[in-house]
Amino acid sequence: MCSDNLEAYIWYSNVFACYSNDIDRYYELLSAEIRRLNLDSKVLTTIGGYPLYFIKSKNSATKEKQRLISAGFHGEEPAGPWGILHFLSCLEPTNLTHINLNILPLVNPTGFAKGRRLNNWGENPNRGFPHPSMIESTAEQASLEGLVLLENLDLLKAASKDGFLTCHEDVCSANGYVYTYENQHEPGTFSKALRDTLACHFPIVADGEVDGCRVNDGIIFNQFDSSFESFLVSSGITLACCSETPGMQNLDLRIQANAELISAFLGRK
Ligand SMILES: [Zn+2]
Repeated sequence: MCSDNLEAYIWYSNVFACYSNDIDRYYELLSAEIRRLNLDSKVLTTIGGYPLYFIKSKNSATKEKQRLISAGFHGEEPAGPWGILHFLSCLEPTNLTHINLNILPLVNPTGFAKGRRLNNWGENPNRGFPHPSMIESTAEQASLEGLVLLENLDLLKAASKDGFLTCHEDVCSANGYVYTYENQHEPGTFSKALRDTLACHFPIVADGEVDGCRVNDGIIFNQFDSSFESFLVSSGITLACCSETPGMQNLDLRIQANAELISAFLGRK
């Protein structure tokens, strides 16, 4: 991540015929998909006048896995939330007899509306989730959004029991990569499948370092910090991926890539 916290990053989407920060259109289209697919939506809180939704399939397919998809932690990374919408628009109600959906579509609406990384109060919604190795006094505080996720931790842990995907972007990169977590020493099929899905759309970042983390073959593996994904893994979930689509590439390609990452994560292909 190299973005300036205060700079606005806004692109035009031909797929959705609007700018990437058009939050009213985003919620309007999301509501239409919730109705069309007959999904349950719960407003976890309201932030800056916008709802922080948790969406799930109504009659959970009990035999199917519980996997959680999230996006929009950072406001300058819009292809995640739009990618979720694109994924939903390609589903039919009958698909939901075979998969469970658990979705946090847009965690940081005030950042999204401005195309800026942080929320309206200058907080980073993906930091401040305590890791056991961190000394409490030096740990960053959770954001407004983060506190709401922590208040709903039981719900979100149950929803991510079999995996967590959080869709991020790197606005300063032309190449894609993933942070993944698996309960083993080397990246396995989970990590490689999501990296390979990204690689269908973009070049993968060269081996070396990204934001001080070692990256090999496009994968930063078992990197523990105060992010929400790291926190969920420390809390007991066994598979997690933070995907990073490259912000220097075309927005609609990034939206398409996120929709396909979600499909791959849910095992739909
Ligand atoms: Zn991010």
